[in-house]
Amino acid sequence: MNNIALYFHIPFCVKKCDYCAFYSLGGANDTVKEDYFNALLSQLSFFSTEKTVSSVYFGGGTPPMLGIERLCKLLSTVQGRFKLADDCEITVEVNPKTVDFNGLKQLRDQGFNRLSVGVQSADDGILKSVGRIHSFADAVECIENAHKVGFDNVSADIIFALPSQTKEMLSDSLSKIMSTNVVHISAYSLQLEEGTPLYDRRDSLALPTEEIEEAQYELLCKELSAGGFMHYEISSFCKDGKRSRHNLAYWKRTEYFGFGASAHSFYNNRRFSNVADVNEYIRLSELGLFAPTDYEDSPEITPEEALEEAIMLGLRTSDGAEIPEGAKKTAASIASLGYGDFENGILSLNSKGFRVSNSVISEIINNI
Ligand code: SF4
Repeated sequence: MNNIALYFHIPFCVKKCDYCAFYSLGGANDTVKEDYFNALLSQLSFFSTEKTVSSVYFGGGTPPMLGIERLCKLLSTVQGRFKLADDCEITVEVNPKTVDFNGLKQLRDQGFNRLSVGVQSADDGILKSVGRIHSFADAVECIENAHKVGFDNVSADIIFALPSQTKEMLSDSLSKIMSTNVVHISAYSLQLEEGTPLYDRRDSLALPTEEIEEAQYELLCKELSAGGFMHYEISSFCKDGKRSRHNLAYWKRTEYFGFGASAHSFYNNRRFSNVADVNEYIRLSELGLFAPTDYEDSPEITPEEALEEAIMLGLRTSDGAEIPEGAKKTAASIASLGYGDFENGILSLNSKGFRVSNSVISEIINNI
C-alpha cells in the first residue's frame, strides 16, 4: 500500500477526568507545552516518507491545550513536508470547553477538516459525576461553532454504561446528540481502570452489570441505526459515508507513524511506541535521540501474526475479513446464526455479531 497515516499525541488536559487512563497530564504549564511542541517539530524533522498521507490525526489528551497556533504550525509543517492526498482527512480532537469560535476558525482555515468532540453524554449530572469539565450546552455550542466555521465532518464521542445511567437516560442522550447534526458517533462503554479516581470509589457507585451494558449497547445500535447512522465498526457509526478514514487505516493495517509521547506506530512491518513520559520525550529530543522508541526491540511481524491481525481488525468493521480455508465452515455457521454475512470468502459481522465479536474472532482464529 502506498498510503500512510500520521498521528500526533497531545497529552495535555485542563484536568484529568475521573475515569481516564490515557497518557495525559492535567494543568501542565506553558513552558512544558512549548518544549513539547519543539520536540514534536524535532521528531517531525527526522521523519520522511515517499508515501501519500491519507489522514492526519491530532489526539490526546486535549489537543487545543497545546495552543491553537502551535497546532496550526504543526499541521503547516506536515503540509509542507509530505505529500498529502487531495482528500486527506485531518482530524483534531477537542474538549468542548477548550476551543471557541475563533480557535475553530483558525483550525479550519489551516486545513483541519474533521473535528472529534468529546461530548460523552447529554446529562449534566452524569458529566459532573465523572469529572468532565463541560456541560452538554458547551458541547452543543462547540458543534454549532464548528458547523459555522465550515467543519462538515463533526464526530461526537459518547460513553455508555456509566454509573447510575438507565436505558432511558442513554436514549435521551442519544437523541439530543443526534439532533446536533453530527455525522459520526464513536460510542464506548465505560472501562473502570485501576489507578483512576472512579476506580477508587467503585464500591460507592451504581455500576451497570454486564447484562445492563449489553442491553445499552443493543439500544444504542438500534437507536443510531433508526437515526440514519450506519454501524460500520464495533464502536463507530456514521452518516453520509463519513467513516473515520484514520481509524479505518488502523483496522485495515495501513502503515501509520506516531509523533509525541506514548504515540504508537505500525511501520516497516513493526509495531512500536514512543516513551510515555512528556519530560523524557523532551529530554531525548534535546539530545537529538530520535525516534525515542522501542523500534529496535520490536520484532518484525511474522506472516502468521499478520494473518491473525488482519482477521481480528477486519472483523471489527462491516467490511469484514477474508477467512482462510480452514475456518470457512466456522464462518459459514456464524453467518447462518444471524451474526453477519459470509460471501466470497469474506465474513462481515452485523450489529448482533459485533456484540459477540470477541468470541467470533477466537472461534475463527482457533480454526485457521
Ligand atoms: S479530556 Fe480525555 S484525555 Fe483528558 S482526562 Fe478527560 S478523558 Fe482523559
